[in-house]
Amino acid sequence: MTDTLNHTALKNALEEVGKTIIARKEELCRLDSLIGDGDHGVGMSHGFESALKKLSQEQSEEIDKLMRSFGMGVISGAGGASGPLFGGLFTEGAKAVKGRPSLDAQAIKQWWKSALEATMKRGGAKLGDKTMVDALIPAVEALETSKETDLALLFQAAAKGAWEGVEKTKQYVAGQGRSRYLGERAIGHQDAGATSVAIILDTLAKACA
Ligand code: ADP
Ligand code: MG
Repeated sequence: MTDTLNHTALKNALEEVGKTIIARKEELCRLDSLIGDGDHGVGMSHGFESALKKLSQEQSEEIDKLMRSFGMGVISGAGGASGPLFGGLFTEGAKAVKGRPSLDAQAIKQWWKSALEATMKRGGAKLGDKTMVDALIPAVEALETSKETDLALLFQAAAKGAWEGVEKTKQYVAGQGRSRYLGERAIGHQDAGATSVAIILDTLAKACA
């Protein structure tokens, strides 16, 4: 059982996140090609490649610096609307956990709550707009109601919430992002960015197990 992530464990977990997103590039492009411009996987893999590089070069022993470098890598390496939004999940997390020697359940809840708030502020999307926010909202709700101190189980709860949110995006007409130009034709297709959020949380759960 893992109830805290120290510097090394967090670094390993972030590495897994980067590798998994890169490995799922084609699936993410395919989802985006159905209702967007088909580049989500390309942008994400460029972003997370750059994040992995930044992570490997980061010398600081502080965990917030690790998260910040990773997020800045995503922001600088990814193009499209989603680079700053996905990088922000980690740079906002860094601000939320600043000064902590390790991450426990409470810190992880703070991380994802701040990440959600920043994403909504930056992108202007609300629940039901068929974006990554539709995965983040139920994930954060699951984190907040969970009593788990085991981080694998905590992230599993968050990932479950996120996947349920991804499933619901199929019903929505988009209110943000390129798929909004499709109107009702977007119905039946899941959002690519929401899928990426669920993959990230899933990977964090696996990395803590
Ligand atoms: P682009 O739309 O520039 O091609 P990507 O294909 O990389 O960027 O990312 C598309 C994803 O970004 C969408 O599936 C959606 O989840 C997310 N997204 C787009 N616009 C917003 C927004 N305003 N707020 C939150 N997420 C958004
Ligand atoms: Mg796109």
